Order: sequence, then structure tokens, then C-alpha cells
Amino acid sequence: MKLAIRGSVLTFVKNPFHFPVEESFVFEEDGVVVVEDGKVAFFGPAATGLSQLEEVDEVHHYRDSLIMPGFIDCHVHYPQTEIIGAYGTQLIEWLNKYTFVTEQKFADKNYAEQTAEIFIRELLAAGTTTASVFCTVAPESVDAFFKVSIKYRMRNIAGKVLMDRHAPDALLDTAQSGYDQSKELIEKWHGKDRSLYSITPRFAPTSTPEQMDMTGALWSEFEGTYLQSHISENLDEIKWVKELYPECSDYLAVYEKYGQVGPRAIYGHGIHLSEDELARLSESGTALAHCPTSNLFLGSGLFSAWGASDLKRPVRTGLATDLGGGTSFSQLTSMNEAYKIAQLNGESLSAFHAFYLATRGAAEALYLEDKIGSIAPGFEADLVVMDLKATPLVEHRLSHAENLHDLLFALMILAQPQTVKATYIAGERMALRGESYNQYTYACD
Ligand SMILES: [Zn+2]
Repeated sequence: MKLAIRGSVLTFVKNPFHFPVEESFVFEEDGVVVVEDGKVAFFGPAATGLSQLEEVDEVHHYRDSLIMPGFIDCHVHYPQTEIIGAYGTQLIEWLNKYTFVTEQKFADKNYAEQTAEIFIRELLAAGTTTASVFCTVAPESVDAFFKVSIKYRMRNIAGKVLMDRHAPDALLDTAQSGYDQSKELIEKWHGKDRSLYSITPRFAPTSTPEQMDMTGALWSEFEGTYLQSHISENLDEIKWVKELYPECSDYLAVYEKYGQVGPRAIYGHGIHLSEDELARLSESGTALAHCPTSNLFLGSGLFSAWGASDLKRPVRTGLATDLGGGTSFSQLTSMNEAYKIAQLNGESLSAFHAFYLATRGAAEALYLEDKIGSIAPGFEADLVVMDLKATPLVEHRLSHAENLHDLLFALMILAQPQTVKATYIAGERMALRGESYNQYTYACD
């Protein structure tokens, strides 16, 4: 089937941190995106695309809306969906008090599948079309996640958490069992439909040197797989890593020692990294996930998106929710909070920079910028449609927008759950908001 999606369309073509902002995006006020076989076949102004429109089977015309590439969430924990918004702690205590208790439930495949279903529907309702996802130590949690992800035809990245110390016994594997189970899961899921596997050591403190060693070895054995973990989120965590790995000069040196840096390695947070660590991340092609709502909620610190993107040693950086340390599925909310973090750093994050970090920037952080994160012929047709009249206030404010930037900025700051009107996965409208408040119907129903 050939489908045309018509409306205002915005997509990025270059990194606005490195190029003049006006060169970084393409905006068509009345644009048309034609999709066929899950991919974009044509994108351009409706005026020149009219001949295309005549050949399509169906047209979805969105007035008073903005169509963009679907949002990409570079770092998120699906088992933590049920502890989002848990009160009162910072990282290490939060892990022990909430996370490690909840994650024990995910050895039950049915339980894991139910949560994966809720999680993926929330992603779609938020306009997120790809996520890099932490499961739990239990292989069942990974099977459940990919099963649901494939049902919704999504390009998601996920993996089993590796953890052989400093957590409850029920959540520990061993260096050998972690390696064996991950290998089996890679063979089962990596490259199946749109799924990609990420080898997932939680973070340096919860793996023994032996497990770290085998993790690096596993990653080098399977070309094209990902590696995801955490780095430099919280000051107590950094101190702890120093005690556990006294031979390493800094936090990043631990991951370097065990062969866990390079293209397709992505680390959550990186708030307190030194200039030298940032330079080494840049050189090795390792990426960072900026997680604003989590950093504020857990009181971890203020990440500098401008600092990470510094042209003299640019680090690939994408936006992320880090739910349940993060407090919202919505990348629009992440953008809102990223702006405020930049303000507290004395920096200015424009709406163009923020939307870039959630789309093309995130795709670059995941080395998927040739497949997703932009709208252009050949790209996978994952799209979000945002309603510029989602609420009376949004409609009123946006009707007074002075220019495109003013409109985008007010949109991300005032975004509400009902801002997302529709989400397309591989050219299929997978979630559609109804007329009533925040009710979505899903193509899989
Ligand atoms: Zn995390």
C-alpha cells in the first residue's frame, strides 16, 4: 500500500551544534511524505508532490499539526515502569530501595510481557518510535520485551542486564552465565525483524572484573551489536568506582580497560566527566545519553549538552528519559527539562537543538542515522504527528507564535500528554489519539 501523510513537516539534516542552525533543518509548511513498504518513498512540498498524491491508495491529511521523525529514546529501563515517580532518594539508595525490588518480578515471563505491553504503548502515545532499553538480569525479561516490540514492528534496541555483585542474590548472574545467556539472546533476537541487541552491563560497580572482562569479549565477538551502561551519574557512585577499580585513572578508564568503548557503545548520564574523559569518548566514537528528568529527579547534576558537543572533541549525544529514574515517557518533557538544565549551566538550548537531540542526534548516538531519525527517501517511515491545538492554551499560545522557533519552543515547553496525535511505525499508523482526552487506539488491538 502507498500512503501519503500531508501537513507541516520538520526534519533535521545536519547537527545544529556544529552547523549554522538555519542549515540544520528542512521545514515544509505544506509538505507530503509518501510511504511504501515501510519506508519513505518521497518527501517534499505538497505543491511538487501532487502527482505523487494521485498515485497513492490513501492520504492522511493533518491540519494544525507538525509531522516529524518519531522520537528516539537513547536510554530507558522498561521494568521500572511501575516505580516511576518513587519518592525521596538518590541513585544508590534508589536502586536498592525501589529498582532491585521490582526487577525481581521479571523472571516471570507473563509478568514481563504485560509490563512490556504497557511500556511500548506508552512509548507510542508519547511519539517515541525507537528506544534503547535495559531489561533485567532474567533472560525471560528480554524474550518478553522483543516479543512485544516485534508485534508493534518497532526498531528497538534491548538487552539483558549483566550484574554479578552488589545486588540481591535473585538478581545476580555470574560472569559465565551472564555471558552464555547474553550470547543465546543475541543469536535469538539480534537482527530479527527490526530488533537490535545491546549487551548491557548495568554499571561498573555491579560487575566483577571477571564479568567486565567477559562482557568486553562478548561484544567483540558479535559485530553490529550494541553495548549500553551508565557512567558518571552521581558523585557517590564515582567515589565507589574509584574504590572498586583503584588501578583505573578515572571512571571511563574502567570501561576502556575492559573493551567496552567504541561505536555503538552508549552510556547514560556522563554528567561529571572530565575534559579528558570527554576527549576519549569523542576519539573512540562512544556516545552519551542525556537524561534530563532523571538527573533532576534523582538530584544527580546538570549535564552540559553544549559541553559534550564541543566541536574540538564532539561526543555523539542523544536525549533519553531514563525512566523510572526519569519521570516521563515524553521526549517533549525531556526537551523542556533539558532547556532548564542548560539555563542552570548558563547555556542556551534552542528548540532546534532540543528537537535535534530527540531525533537525528539520538539516531547518530545510536549509529542509526542512515535508517531513522530523519525524513528522507529510503529512511524507515517512523513518524510522530503533534497537534498544535492539543489544548486551549497550546492553541492560543501557538496562534501567537512569531516564527518557527517560537512555535517549536512553546510546543516543547507546553507539551501535554495529548500533544501527540498519531505515531507511525514503518509506515503504519500504530497509535492514534481519539477526540476524547488522551485516549489512544492501537493498530494491534
Ligand atoms: Zn539508567
